[in-house]
Amino acid sequence: MADEREQGQPDEADRQKVLMLDEEMRDMPREVRNVIAPVRLSGKDHMQFRCFPGIDCFNACCRNIEILLTPYDLYRLRKRLDLEPEAFLFEYATPYFLRKGELPVPLLRMDEKTGRCPFNTDAGCRVYEDRPVTCRYYPIGMALMRRQDATEEEDFYFLIKEDHCHGHRQPRDWTVAEWRRDQGSDGYDVQNKDWMEFVIKRRSAGDMVKTSLPVSEMFYMASTNPAEFRRFAFGSSFMRRYQVDEATRAQIAQDDLALTEFAFRWLKSVLYGDPFVGVTPEALETLRERAARKAVEARKTPDDSGGQS
Ligand code: SF4
Ligand code: SF4
Repeated sequence: MADEREQGQPDEADRQKVLMLDEEMRDMPREVRNVIAPVRLSGKDHMQFRCFPGIDCFNACCRNIEILLTPYDLYRLRKRLDLEPEAFLFEYATPYFLRKGELPVPLLRMDEKTGRCPFNTDAGCRVYEDRPVTCRYYPIGMALMRRQDATEEEDFYFLIKEDHCHGHRQPRDWTVAEWRRDQGSDGYDVQNKDWMEFVIKRRSAGDMVKTSLPVSEMFYMASTNPAEFRRFAFGSSFMRRYQVDEATRAQIAQDDLALTEFAFRWLKSVLYGDPFVGVTPEALETLRERAARKAVEARKTPDDSGGQS
C-alpha cells in the first residue's frame, strides 16, 4: 500500500525540511526557490510528467535560467562542439561565485537580449544528447541538508513546478529513479562525484581549513580546463611533491576525465586529509623545515625581530 508521501501528502517534518531549503539555496534565484513543491522525494516516489516536441510549452523552459556547468557537462559540450576549453568558456560561460564555500563556477550564458539559452533552437535543444545535467534533472531538483543533530548531510529530491511548464499535466507516471535513468542523470552524477564531494565539503567547512593553496583558482582550473591543470601538474614541482605512481601519471597525461577525477581527489586530500595523494618524503622534509622556521620566528621577541617595544 502506498504511504502518504507517495500520494503527494507530505508529513509536517518533511514540509519543514523542504521549507528550510530556502535558507540552503540562497545561491538560487528566488523565482526558482518559489516553485519547489513542498514534498521531499526519494527515488521510489512517483511523479507525473511528460515533455515532448509539440507540447504547447515547448522551449519555454530554455530561457532565463541559471545553469551551473559541471566538469562533466563541460567535457561533453566541448567534445560536441569541438572547442578548446578557453574557446568554450569565452563563447558560452560566465563565471559566478557560489556564496557558500566561495567557489567560482561557470554558468551557461543566456542571450543578453532574449534570455534564450545559446543551444536552444525552434526545433529544441541542439546539443540534446550532451545537454548539461541540470537540464537532465528537470523537473527534479536535488538538495543536501544536515539536520541540527546530525554529523552527515543527507540528500533528497524535490519537484519543481513552474507555471509555464505544462509537462506536469501529462498523464505519464514515473518514479524519480526511472526519470533520472531515462534522462541519463545517474551517469552524469557518477562522473561528477569527486567534484560534487569537494563542493559539499567546502560548503560545509567553509575556509576553516587553512592552506597556502590558492583553492579558488585551483578549483576553477580543475573544473573548467583540464589542459591547463595538466600543464600545472607536469610543468611545476607538483610531481616531486606528491606521490603519483607511473600508471596514474601516464593516464592523466592523456585522459581528461581521469585528470579531472585526479584533480578533485588531490584537492580533497590536501584540504580534508582524504587518503588519496600522499606527499613525497622530500616534500615532507621541506614542510617540516618550513614549519620549524615559522615556529622560531613566532617565538622571537619584538626586540629580536627589530620591532618596537
Ligand atoms: S542546454 Fe538544451 S535543454 Fe538545456 S537549457 Fe539549453 S537548450 Fe534547453
Ligand atoms: S514540458 Fe516543461 S520541460 Fe518540457 S518543454 Fe515544456 S516547459 Fe520545458
